[in-house]
Amino acid sequence: MQYGSFPTYRPRRMRNGEAVRQMMRETELSVNDFIYPLFVKPGTGRRDEISSMPGIFQVSLDLLIAEIEELLALGVHYVILFGIPAAKDELGSESADDHGIVQEACRLIRQNAPEMFVITDVCLCEYTSHGHCGALDEDGYVNNDKTLSLLAAEAVSHARAGSQMVAPSDMMDGRVGAIREALDAAGFENVPIMSYSTKYASGYYGPFRDAADSAPSFGDRRAYQMDPANADEGVREAALDIAEGADMVMVKPALPYLDVLSRVKREFHFPTVAYNVSGEYAMVKAAAQNGWIDERRVVLETLLSIKRAGADMIITYHAKDVARWLAE
Ligand SMILES: [Zn+2]
Repeated sequence: MQYGSFPTYRPRRMRNGEAVRQMMRETELSVNDFIYPLFVKPGTGRRDEISSMPGIFQVSLDLLIAEIEELLALGVHYVILFGIPAAKDELGSESADDHGIVQEACRLIRQNAPEMFVITDVCLCEYTSHGHCGALDEDGYVNNDKTLSLLAAEAVSHARAGSQMVAPSDMMDGRVGAIREALDAAGFENVPIMSYSTKYASGYYGPFRDAADSAPSFGDRRAYQMDPANADEGVREAALDIAEGADMVMVKPALPYLDVLSRVKREFHFPTVAYNVSGEYAMVKAAAQNGWIDERRVVLETLLSIKRAGADMIITYHAKDVARWLAE
């Protein structure tokens, strides 16, 4: 296609004033784009701020509905739940306990705030004593196939508690298929799977591990999460999960992997989620608190870039703030 050239074509003409800028705008943020992560913990009266994530709290079940009502009042109506269990063990048993922390939280929200759509994160790292995302072999290797049945049991237990979408984040091979099969067998064929299909072994997860109390006690997660150097492999991971029955795929983290997000979206034209992770949030917050950046401007620009790159939905800790700003 041949565009005009200067002086007949002057791109600045369509930047001269808000009215024409609005006509030209290709991407716009909406409160419907956001999924807010929530950390639930046992106990009562607990609303503990995570030190590396100002404004983000772990809440106990009795304070959960107040949190949900605040979100709904702001127009945020998607949450993803993470649980901090009372007890951890080798196999992360509480993950599939029908009275585990996430299951209780799920039931509570569904009963008291049916307008909220509840997604549950499915993984073992919050529940295992060693903090890895699966069951270990004797040598400490995370055993892929042994982990699949544990994840499937967890997902079914979440669905029984009323979870409206399960989101496996472990990065085991074959888990989407295993979870789909288990959900279908249990009569939950209408519960969709949001797969963390393309999840990188990232330094940006640091603050989350404080939030979810899930740091591995030895080693790291590079034997299952992806190498940050690989984009083709990220596209293949999404392809595998779509083939296994995922209803949404994900790229995580978001900002350092916008190229991968863009490729996944353009390759499959499939519902695609980006996770704007804890480290991305913490960096913006820290700089804003120091007066080094304009927080509102930077957050809106960041989220816009994620949507422009191809995200249909964005999981973000900024959701409450952005909802307020968009409503002004
Ligand atoms: Zn995990």
